[in-house]
Amino acid sequence: MGIREIVTQSKVNIGAFIRSISSTILYRWILYFKSQPIVVSQKPAMVFSPHQDDETLGCGGLIALKRLQGVPVEIVFLTDGRYGRPNWISEETITDIRYSEAVNALDILGVGSSQAYFLNHLDGSLQNLSNEQRQEIVDKLVQHLQSFMPEEVYVPHRKDGHPDHEATHSLVTEAIAKSQLKVELQEYPIWMLWQNPLSSNLKQEDFTHVYRLPIANVNERKTKAIQNYRSQLPGIPRGLIGRFFLPHEIFFKN
Ligand SMILES: [Zn+2]
Repeated sequence: MGIREIVTQSKVNIGAFIRSISSTILYRWILYFKSQPIVVSQKPAMVFSPHQDDETLGCGGLIALKRLQGVPVEIVFLTDGRYGRPNWISEETITDIRYSEAVNALDILGVGSSQAYFLNHLDGSLQNLSNEQRQEIVDKLVQHLQSFMPEEVYVPHRKDGHPDHEATHSLVTEAIAKSQLKVELQEYPIWMLWQNPLSSNLKQEDFTHVYRLPIANVNERKTKAIQNYRSQLPGIPRGLIGRFFLPHEIFFKN
């Protein structure tokens, strides 16, 4: 490792350290001062996940609680997840691995493979779609919504700080409007609170309707489901991953 690498490496570490602190402060502020407690409802839910792991990280506890109570839950994955690839997995096998990790994680959470849909759009492409491609995806989402008729829909937060995540929010909200279904929209954070505090576009009003769902009863299950995503865990920053093992989940309603 040369001097330049050492300097770059320390910048990365300092950056991650600062993010880890600011994100912990923000998270605790939300948890203790801004969020209201909720209990899981009996309403059928559809969870939209940009990549194979977001559904488990953001909503694994909610999914497990609903399934334990026999409430129907369906998951729709938008991309094929091909770019979330550690070196030890080949380009040719990554999408199969992500598919089977998702099926296994959902099985642990109580969702069968027939309740999971893989739309397989190119990973990283959702924010750069042509109008035609966008309409095609929205129409597909409308079909899923109309066939399952959820009363609750879960999407990544509108300001999640990741192009595919924010695009998923936008595609799903457009599909809900087009489907004419009346659903409660809940937004789950993945990268939202991990943004650089100096460049983040989060505003005070983004924290007006925040809810915390206790998931202690199913936390072991959620933990197992997360650990099942072996190809993804090394890519999640150390300062962030611990948050997904906590005994509550945070949701935003706007
Ligand atoms: Zn993702």
